[in-house]
Amino acid sequence: MRTSEIRRRFLDYFAENGHRVVPAGSLVPGNDPTLLFTNAGMNQFKDVFLGSDKRDYSRATTAQRCVRAGGKHNDLENVGYTARHHTFFEMLGNFSFGDYFKEEAIGFAWNFLTKELGLPAEKLWVTVYKDDDEAADIWVNKIGVPADRLSRLGDKDNFWMMGDTGPCGPCSEIFYDHGEDVPGGPPGSPDDDLDRYIEIWNLVFMQFDTQEDGIRKPLPKPSVDTGMGLERLAAILQDVHSNYEIDLFQALIKAAMRETGCTDIENRSLRVIADHIRSSAFLIADGVIPSNEGRGYVLRRIIRRAIRHGYKLGCEGLFFNKLVSDLVNEMGEAYPELAEQAAHVQKVLIIEEEQFARTLANGMAILEDGIESLEGKVIPGELVFKLYDTYGFPADLTADVAREKGLEIDQQGFEASMAAQRERAKANSKFTLDRDIDLNLEGETEFLGYESLIGSGEVAKLLKA
Ligand code: ATP
Ligand code: MG
Ligand code: MG
Ligand code: MG
Repeated sequence: MRTSEIRRRFLDYFAENGHRVVPAGSLVPGNDPTLLFTNAGMNQFKDVFLGSDKRDYSRATTAQRCVRAGGKHNDLENVGYTARHHTFFEMLGNFSFGDYFKEEAIGFAWNFLTKELGLPAEKLWVTVYKDDDEAADIWVNKIGVPADRLSRLGDKDNFWMMGDTGPCGPCSEIFYDHGEDVPGGPPGSPDDDLDRYIEIWNLVFMQFDTQEDGIRKPLPKPSVDTGMGLERLAAILQDVHSNYEIDLFQALIKAAMRETGCTDIENRSLRVIADHIRSSAFLIADGVIPSNEGRGYVLRRIIRRAIRHGYKLGCEGLFFNKLVSDLVNEMGEAYPELAEQAAHVQKVLIIEEEQFARTLANGMAILEDGIESLEGKVIPGELVFKLYDTYGFPADLTADVAREKGLEIDQQGFEASMAAQRERAKANSKFTLDRDIDLNLEGETEFLGYESLIGSGEVAKLLKA
């Protein structure tokens, strides 16, 4: 079953069960300054859960594009290393705004997976929040999941929070066992982070609104928010063990092979490039432009990482922007706005590629020299800073290279160099600095407010030229 058909089947199923099919929200959340990028289907409904926004429906379903490359949910460092994480992915969801609760939510999910799609029940494992006896009882006694395939887990896994504040609640998750050929253990076991038992669907029982002081205030009405990863479900239905082997990703990986000349379809860099073209293109289509601050800087980091992986495969010229048309072939039908924006997206990528291409080779040579003369396993902060400051290497890009070679970077030293430079700049400048650069490897940006985020800096100027 092709990815596009799975998306349609999901929405149809929930529409038949009384849910309004609601268009997805932008990757740049319109209603929420606490959020870097849309990271879950529920984001656009945040105020509905909180009770301050009313809709003329109490059940909804969506296919929501999400980006997790910073903020509370950040999977940038996982891309290329796990079979199941992307920076950009689609989350299929069904929502109840004070309508149904745990029993129906669990019933819908189980029925969709086992009846609609015909997944074998014995391959599915479930988790509930540690003291959620009600959910455990529904799974075991109403659905009939054997008790030894249910685990009770704590806050880290089974209490879902959108961010540090906002709607949250205990959750129950469904996992799929990819079989004993794949390393990994069941949820809750020490090696559950490997790719054998893959989390496919999270059912969140929304009950609280976390306040800034950490206090959890009960929501006006208990609600349901679910999210299932489309690419993970596609892997199961296409009988492959990695998201990168599904139809859509194989097409993008082949396009990356064509552009880079790499002939090893399993190459990790191809996966990174295929992942990053999706997040880059969709972010640009939703109005973000590479810059040195906030959202634009996260985008820049993603693009530069992709370019570095192309360089690693031997690509000297521009290549990344050429994948836009392949992406449109794969996803333009489901996302007409991407197809409409294709020329703009490509232009932005060309500008960014041209800028970075000028310094990338020199920066890489300096980094490689530095690594060769290294005594320990840590790349000094001053070198990380020099690469950043002179060659445009975001620190996480240097860290990505370091990780490939079993090395680390001196994050503290880097930050100290950054701080020293800021002081110098302040002292030397008659003008106030109007930008603040993101230092954090985790992709946390300093929240200076995102009202004026889109299109600052030199790329915006070049675009207007
Ligand atoms: P994981 O534990 O695998 O990192 P998660 O618990 O962080 O996933 P949720 O926040 O519960 O994920 O999101 C709901 C669903 O979205 C997940 O069950 C999964 O199917 C999908 N999903 C989450 N993160 C990603 C990602 N980075 N790439 C692809 N799919 C994802
Ligand atoms: Mg995660
Ligand atoms: Mg999880
Ligand atoms: Mg989860």
